[in-house]
Amino acid sequence: MKHVLVLGAGQLARMMALAGAPLNIKISAFDVNSGNIVHPLTQQVLGNGLTTAIEHADVITAEFEHIPLDVLDVCEKSGKFFPTTQAIKAGGDRRIEKSLLDSAQVKNAKYAVINNRDDFDAAIEYVGLPMVLKTALGGYDGKGQWRLKSAEHVDAVWCELAQALQDNPNQSIVAEEFVPFQREVSLVGARNASGDIAIYPLAENVHTDGVLTLSTAIDEPALQQQAATMFEAVANSLQYVGVLALEFFDVNGELLVNEIAPRVHNSGHWTQQGAETCQFENHLRAVCGMPLGSTQAIRATSMVNILGEDQVSDSVYALTGCHVHWYGKEKRRGRKMGHINVCAHDKAALKESLLELSELLDAQAFPALKPAALAL
Ligand code: ATP
Ligand code: MG
Repeated sequence: MKHVLVLGAGQLARMMALAGAPLNIKISAFDVNSGNIVHPLTQQVLGNGLTTAIEHADVITAEFEHIPLDVLDVCEKSGKFFPTTQAIKAGGDRRIEKSLLDSAQVKNAKYAVINNRDDFDAAIEYVGLPMVLKTALGGYDGKGQWRLKSAEHVDAVWCELAQALQDNPNQSIVAEEFVPFQREVSLVGARNASGDIAIYPLAENVHTDGVLTLSTAIDEPALQQQAATMFEAVANSLQYVGVLALEFFDVNGELLVNEIAPRVHNSGHWTQQGAETCQFENHLRAVCGMPLGSTQAIRATSMVNILGEDQVSDSVYALTGCHVHWYGKEKRRGRKMGHINVCAHDKAALKESLLELSELLDAQAFPALKPAALAL
C-alpha cells in the first residue's frame, strides 16, 4: 500500500483516488486554503496541517499549479514531491512558462512581459495588434485575460492592467500576439523517473467563453509527431515526473504551444474510457516509481464537460457508450460539475452518439455540443 498526498482537494484528486484504488494506492488530499487533510471522495476532514500530512505520505503530488510558494517549499524539502517545484512554477507563472518554452526551443506565440506603462507601449510595438494580455499569475479558464484589438482601446485596457499590477506586487502581464488558429489541440503524456515517456493521442478541444467544453481524441500522425517532439523537449528539460499536458494552437498544421499544465488535465479525461490506462493511473504510476501503463486509444472517444448543472436525465445514463462522472460538488453557475465520456467503435458512430446525446441535454447548458458533433 502506497500513500500519496495530493495538494488540492478537487475533482482531479478525486479521480486520482478512483484510479489508484485498484493499485493499492491510497490518496489523501490537502486543501491548501483550509490546511485540512481531506478524503478525496467524501471531503471528510481527516486531519490538519501540512507537516502531519507530509509525515504520513510516501509521495506528494499536486492537482493544480497555483500553490503557495511556502507550501511548495516544504513539500520539496521532504524529498517526496513530484513533479518538481520548477515544473509547478512554470505552470503557475506565465513568465517562467514562456522562458522554459524558449529555452527548450519549443515554438510559442510571440510575447512580451509588462510591468509598467512603458513596457506596455513597447509590447504593442513589438508584439503588434491584435494582442491577448494575460496575468502572469493566477489565470485559469480564461480568467485574467484581455483582448486588445485596436489602438483606440489602449488607454482603457491599460487602466485594467494597471489595476491588476497594483493588486499584487508580484504580478506582471504577458502580452501575446493574437494567434489566428484553426483549432486547439492538447497532448497529455507521462514521464517517470527512469525517463520513460508515454504519450496519449492528441485531443481536439472546443472552448466556450474561455472554458473547455468538449475534447475528442484524434488520430493524425503528422500532428501527433510534432506535438510529441515538443512534449519530450519540455518533459525532459524539466526532468518531469508525472502527467504533463501541453495545449497547442494549430495554425495550418503547424503547432504553437499555448500553455503547459504540470498535472492531469481536463482534456485528458477521455482516457478514463478511451485509453488502455487512464491519465490518473499513469500519473500515480509515474510519481510512485512504477512502469507506465499503455496510452493506446482503445476506441473513439469524446469528453463533454458538465458546467453548472448537477443532474442529467436518465436517458443519458441509458445511452450506450455514455459514461457520466460527477465530482460531488455544490452546484454553482459555470462551475465544472462533472463530465461525460462518450465512446463508440469508430468516428462515424461517435458522431451519431454525440448528436444523440445533444438531443438529450439542455442545449443552453451544452451549447458547443451539437455544432461540434456536426463538425466531426
Ligand atoms: P485554462 O487554464 O482553462 O487552459 P487559461 O486561463 O490558462 O485557460 P489560456 O489557455 O492561455 O488561459 O487561454 C484561454 C483560451 O483563450 C485559449 O484556449 C484560446 O482559445 C484563447 N487564447 C489564449 N491565448 C491566445 C492567443 N495568443 N491568441 C488567440 N487566442 C488565444
Ligand atoms: Mg489553457
